[in-house]
Amino acid sequence: MAGIIIANGTIIDPSRDLQQRGDLIIRDGKIHGIAAPNASSGALKSDRVIDATGCYVTPGLIDIHVHFREPGDEEEETIASGSAAAVAGGFTTVCCMPNTKPPLDNEAQIEFVMRESERVGLANVFAVGAITKGRAGKELAEIGSMVARGAIAISDDGVGVADASVMRKALQYAKMIDTVIMQHCEEPSLSGGCMHAGLMSTVLGLPGIPAEAEQLMIGRDLMLNRTIGCRYHVQHISTAYSVELIRMAKREGLSVTAEVAPHHLLLTDESCRHYDTNFKMNPPLRTAADVKACIQGVIDGTIDCLATDHAPHLAEEKELEFQYAPFGILSIECALALYIKALLEPGHIDWMKLIDMMSTRGAQIVKLDRGSLKDGAVADVTVINPNLDWTIDLESMKTKSRNCPFAGWKVKGRATHTIVGGDVKWQLNP
Ligand SMILES: [Zn+2]
Ligand SMILES: [Zn+2]
Repeated sequence: MAGIIIANGTIIDPSRDLQQRGDLIIRDGKIHGIAAPNASSGALKSDRVIDATGCYVTPGLIDIHVHFREPGDEEEETIASGSAAAVAGGFTTVCCMPNTKPPLDNEAQIEFVMRESERVGLANVFAVGAITKGRAGKELAEIGSMVARGAIAISDDGVGVADASVMRKALQYAKMIDTVIMQHCEEPSLSGGCMHAGLMSTVLGLPGIPAEAEQLMIGRDLMLNRTIGCRYHVQHISTAYSVELIRMAKREGLSVTAEVAPHHLLLTDESCRHYDTNFKMNPPLRTAADVKACIQGVIDGTIDCLATDHAPHLAEEKELEFQYAPFGILSIECALALYIKALLEPGHIDWMKLIDMMSTRGAQIVKLDRGSLKDGAVADVTVINPNLDWTIDLESMKTKSRNCPFAGWKVKGRATHTIVGGDVKWQLNP
């Protein structure tokens, strides 16, 4: 069977701390070794050659936190449009949150996502099942059967599990069946605002969501999980003290991982000044000190992985007044460039760590056999041109929605080829 030779790139494989120039050989949908640059000793006449001169060749990017809105809000995004957006952003694997309509809280819904992903045939789309029935926080959902059917994790994302006794049961159950609980940490009695509670919300006269809403739930969950030891993952971390809580927990050896989204490394609550709803998300944009602490959390390993929380919404909805517009923004097609801007350009981390945090580590968190370029691994590969200057342009995006605060930003670095299971599913200039 014909293969692909990705020639003369710099191959980065965080799963074995490997960085070297060479040709990556793909055969039968699997990684088939590395040859000397442009030598391609193993090449066959029928092989397709992709010139990766000046590019990085990395394990396919993995985003463990997206919203593809299907079923229920197909006018905002579908598994098909979301998958097209994912591969255009260099992502080969994504995990869909269950706050659809109806929610992904039973086996049939998990099966629907997996079947649809297969039918679309672009990215690997995995479903995250709900922790509680209807995401209502009262009664555990059919976690065991969802996980058995292929749910990759559980979460009530959009809300946190407020009731401590329900959360305790969920942690115990997840421990028993060895799945990961992803928590949207937000104490509801402190919620109800539309931006970060601080000086800016006072100036703008908007109700705020205090940092403590997030911190309280992280602290409570860490305490609940102390004696249980379930794989517990904090979604979209946004405050300085949240980072500190996780740092302390890790120091103590507790079982916890965390992710951050690009907007929480690049924007502050100052951006809400013009009441532009493209700066409204949950958790909200915080202060400059919080941004700095999140970046420090990335540098020192407190934060494990980089996700997007890609959350498409209709323009009509986002055009509502700030207070009434829905939370969420989209970023899967520009996340790589945003992370380069936030973390690489200022010299906070290097390429090896960036790819580890955008691929290998995410795979480990959800125990997925991806995020590696070892021989025999599934050939999910992203080719990245680190020097490509481009402007984030909403019109050319594959996602169905347009709610992105980064429109018009001049950025550097972009995926040029996205290969899933040995097939080129997207390329920048076909
Ligand atoms: Zn959330
Ligand atoms: Zn989310």
